[in-house]
Amino acid sequence: MTNIKESIENIRKSIVEVCQKSGRNPDDVMLLAVTKTVDVDIIEDAINYGITQVGENKPQELKRKYEILGDKVKWHQIGSLQSNKVKYIIDKVELIHSLDRVSLAEEIDARAKNIGRTINCLVQVNISGEESKHGLDPDEAVEFIKKCSKNYKNIKIKGLMTMAPYDVEEDEIRKIFRGLKNLSIKIENEKIHNIDMTELSMGMSGDYKIAIEEGATIVRIGTSLFGKRNYNV
Ligand SMILES: *Cc1c(COP(=O)(O)O)cnc(C)c1O
Repeated sequence: MTNIKESIENIRKSIVEVCQKSGRNPDDVMLLAVTKTVDVDIIEDAINYGITQVGENKPQELKRKYEILGDKVKWHQIGSLQSNKVKYIIDKVELIHSLDRVSLAEEIDARAKNIGRTINCLVQVNISGEESKHGLDPDEAVEFIKKCSKNYKNIKIKGLMTMAPYDVEEDEIRKIFRGLKNLSIKIENEKIHNIDMTELSMGMSGDYKIAIEEGATIVRIGTSLFGKRNYNV
């Protein structure tokens, strides 16, 4: 049984340490607790111990938990998102981390418009080039973002997101995170209307320290907070 209070404190301490070592302000790194498969009671405990942001990867699961916990915490959609499931989360999310194609942008924009909201999104980029990973090719990102700026007024792009592969050396992971940071600088320099490049969502339990060293502003942490996930519950 994981002690949630202790693991939250440990991760927070560790984030502060890495920030200090790399000359960053810990206030600039958001801890996003990844709560997929985690029970609502445990999420409530985590909220009581100071968690303010949670991430889910299944829209229906986010909706179910939102109906219980509501605005006690801010909700993030992480991981691939099917267009036909946008409707479950559109009125609940603080940030969508996985905008990676025009058809999804169209759906988010239309649904957002319907409810009179602007939805914050990160563009997911596949820096590693792994077949299995979702996300745009880095070469396609600039054009995609220009298109969003022009066509989707109810989407506000706030930055980029990526996932590193699990089974590679630290050097390789660092290269991927640095690649995302460099891409965000490149996009920022394009000065595209209504596009911010303030957020970099990168780093999970196994690699968040490297991600912070390379400029992450959001780390998405599940296992190190809640223990190994049980997908059977
Ligand atoms: C599950 C998940 C995480 C958290 O992974 P851990 O290794 O458990 O910290 C982060 N990001 C995404 C997109 C995920 O699906």
